[in-house]
Amino acid sequence: MIFSSDNYSPVPQQVMDALAEANNGYQPSYGEDSQMKKVRHLMQTIFEAPDAAVYLVATGTAANSLALSTLCEPWQTIFCSPVSHIHEDECNAPEFFSGAKLTLVGDSDKINPTELRKSIQAEESRGVHGPQRGPVSITQITEKGQVYTLSEINEITRIAREFKLPVHMDGARFANALVSLDCTAAEMTWKSGIDVVSFGGTKNGLMGVEGVIFFDPEKAWEFELRRKRAAHLFSKHRYLSAQMLAYLENDLWIELASKANKAASLLIEGLRNIEKVDFLVEPKANLIFVTMPAYMHRKAFEKGLEYYTWSEIEGVSDDTPVVSRFVVDWSRSLSDIDKFLEIMRNAAKKEI
Ligand SMILES: *Cc1c(COP(=O)(O)O)cnc(C)c1O
Repeated sequence: MIFSSDNYSPVPQQVMDALAEANNGYQPSYGEDSQMKKVRHLMQTIFEAPDAAVYLVATGTAANSLALSTLCEPWQTIFCSPVSHIHEDECNAPEFFSGAKLTLVGDSDKINPTELRKSIQAEESRGVHGPQRGPVSITQITEKGQVYTLSEINEITRIAREFKLPVHMDGARFANALVSLDCTAAEMTWKSGIDVVSFGGTKNGLMGVEGVIFFDPEKAWEFELRRKRAAHLFSKHRYLSAQMLAYLENDLWIELASKANKAASLLIEGLRNIEKVDFLVEPKANLIFVTMPAYMHRKAFEKGLEYYTWSEIEGVSDDTPVVSRFVVDWSRSLSDIDKFLEIMRNAAKKEI
């Protein structure tokens, strides 16, 4: 029973079937395939953005790095949260591809508008000697399982626009956020001032495809050149397209995220009834952060649960509080959730 990350999950049958079907016959290479034309059209329809430029890459790191490098110059700085994936988990790929530096805003997963304004204002005080202001990047849902509301996104993009800075959204878990907010894809992005989105697919069921969407196609050609130069233009591109097409068709992406969020909400409700479990932050989608005593983790692991903990659980006293993360992916059945909760309820009883 692994609840470590949503990329531990399998691929839904619809996507495997689409890959098998795409394997028939011949298709032009390098993104000229017929499936990609459909993907582009579907994305434009879903986002109510007929002019949007739509691309596919294989990893979220590529999506973020190539999107951000297209939005900035090497002498600029990218404003982001200190726990953002682009800062903590991409081995400096955004800096490598953009040549820019990252400026960390505040100390939270969600960027606070006041702190953002302060951070932006503090740059460009040293003329030619210092970094110039560049794009703002936010993560939806955040790395701590929070969701920016539409008004929070609007507030951030309004500040960025005051300084004429573009805003990027790392939507590795875009679908989970959309389901949580119950709004449209357009509302969560360009209608709230977002310029470019990394549209996640892998964490929500795909084998390995992420979209990059530019609502203003002005930089589309530059992105294409950067993608090729970064070795991320796939020659047998149809196999990327086929996955994304199956994901978008019949709203499979929404169905998968709804399933994940629903199962997560049952897990959250169950955990609330276990006295020794404290939520680090109130979960809003399918990422759950809790603090529990070390002995509970030890017992849960003994019974076969797997998940990440943020500090050692061995060699510490039983009651040492240890933070952990549970991720509920699209493939979780309700009986998996029941089993997880039963193990946790038993783990909470110290004497057993
Ligand atoms: C998983 C994830 C990504 C993408 O990571 P890759 O391993 O490069 O696919 C990007 N942003 C966030 C917030 C993520 O959780």
